[in-house]
This record gives sequence, C-alpha cells and structure tokens, in this order.
Amino acid sequence: MIRLLIIAGLVYFLYRKYRSWQESLADRREKGETAIEDIMVQDPHCGTYFPRREGVLLRFDGEDLLFCSKKCRDAFVAEHTNTTTGG
Ligand SMILES: [Zn+2]
Repeated sequence: MIRLLIIAGLVYFLYRKYRSWQESLADRREKGETAIEDIMVQDPHCGTYFPRREGVLLRFDGEDLLFCSKKCRDAFVAEHTNTTTGG
C-alpha cells in the first residue's frame, strides 16, 4: 500500500515538473526570448563555428557579419577590398 503512495507521489511530482517546464517554454515563447547568445554561427572567412556572443562584428556591404577573431575579420576585409583587376 505504501509503495502505491510513493508511486502516486512520484507521478504527481513528475507531472508538476512537466507542467512547470511547459509553462516556462510557453512563457519564453510569448516574450520572444530565445538563447540567441548561445547560437553557434559560422565564420564566413575560415568556416569555424563559434558562439555568437564571442564573435567579432563587421558591418560589410550593409550586412552584419560575425567572425571568430579580429584576424579573420581583417583577412576578410583585405580579401574583399583589394583592388586587383580581374574579369
Ligand atoms: Zn575565423
């Protein structure tokens, strides 16, 4: 009989956990909050993935680009602003 009570208590506990998890998810969706800072982005220069919050931002041609390091950003700028004649 006691075992049944324990199981019932456990089920209730898990149900409560599940409900609060669902509510927090819905709450987050309503606020439009997502873990943007933890999103992995790809460096357009070297192809490395890194956390967005650690990226080096560059405004280039009206677009916001993120690089894994200042070195990559500078290399990208150098590549795209060189004045070699071609084509
Ligand atoms: Zn890089």
